[in-house]
Amino acid sequence: MDAKDWDASPGNGRRAVVTGGAGFLGCHLCTKLLAQGFDVTAVDNLSTGSLNNIAPLIGHARFRFRRHDIVSPSTWKADWIFNLACCASPKHYQRDPEKTIRTCTDGALNMLHEARACSARIFQASTSEVYGEPEMHPQRESYRGAVSPVGPRACYDEGKRCAEAMFFDFHRMHGLEIKVARIFNTYGPHMQVGDGRVVSNFIVQALRGQPLTVHADGSQTRSFCYVDDLIDGIVKFMAAPAELTGPMNLGNPEEVTVAELARRIIELTGSRSRIVHRPMPVDDPTRRCPDITLARSTLGWKPQVSLDAGLKRTIAWFDRTLSHLEQPPPEASNAIA
Ligand code: NAD
Ligand code: UDP
Repeated sequence: MDAKDWDASPGNGRRAVVTGGAGFLGCHLCTKLLAQGFDVTAVDNLSTGSLNNIAPLIGHARFRFRRHDIVSPSTWKADWIFNLACCASPKHYQRDPEKTIRTCTDGALNMLHEARACSARIFQASTSEVYGEPEMHPQRESYRGAVSPVGPRACYDEGKRCAEAMFFDFHRMHGLEIKVARIFNTYGPHMQVGDGRVVSNFIVQALRGQPLTVHADGSQTRSFCYVDDLIDGIVKFMAAPAELTGPMNLGNPEEVTVAELARRIIELTGSRSRIVHRPMPVDDPTRRCPDITLARSTLGWKPQVSLDAGLKRTIAWFDRTLSHLEQPPPEASNAIA
């Protein structure tokens, strides 16, 4: 085992930096790393993340939050760097494509220089989007993808592909220890109510009794991974021997159509919402499912949480969050009293 293939046991005294630490995946990762004994610094510009996500961690002796945009260089002292900063929902990353590209490229480059400067191991949150509209199914890491370089998703897809290129160049040229994971659709508690991705949209719509907005006929597929499974995979990958650089698919191979997802969410919420159809967004991939043979054989990792079980937990979380958000403000007279 390499010197940096650390024992992630409690009290290990190691320092981890998590960019995007106030986002959906980032806040779960910070929580897991704290539980494993790391000193954790979450770095985030709060563009789609929220301080609410890390509120339970503020005050923890080994946790710090730094509001910072990774497009600007900075100095972080770390043993492990997890580069998660980047808006992940199409709604958000297409709002400011220039910012998305700069976060994916300049931001990742800054983190690579930083990792080099402090001899840290660095993880990159890449994405199944690097496969674009895949001609191979399920997608294996050896597949090079079919991404439109000019469509509205390109700022994200090509940005993430460029980041992968830079990670592997730093590895080849400078011997930097890298871990590149291609993350497939992941869902769970701490997605924002207005995030715009399909699971949170459908759950919020169902709980509010609004129609579920299925794009086109809903026959496109995705494979949804519950967040705890994904975070477990990320940490196992980071702790694995240095030779295991990836790219490595992390996701749940249980493939489902978007229409079926809508039906399951209506059933699990007991909602009376109906389904309405909306136009298909440009370049929306038709099928997506990970081949996770590599993660299974090298990390001994596979998802444990079924879609129904994960949806139930996520629905319960959104139910609590929405009732809190939608509580009427106290009457002025009561508030003064
Ligand atoms: P998210 O939008 O909830 O979190 C992203 C976080 O990054 C937010 O807190 C945001 O404020 C922060 N951020 C964005 N740009 C930044 C910048 N320039 N500087 C500093 N902070 C910045 O998304 P998520 O689902 O938690 O995704 C986290 C990472 O995982 C992203 O890199 C995303 O591309 C990748 N990923 C996620 C999924 C998924 O299904 N959740 C799938 C594939 C890849
Ligand atoms: N989708 C949908 N209704 C919505 C949001 C998304 O039908 O309200 C579809 C979307 O067109 C895509 C799938 O659900 O086919 C997954 O979309 P998401 O934005 O969650 O992730 P991505 O497309 O990046 O995989």
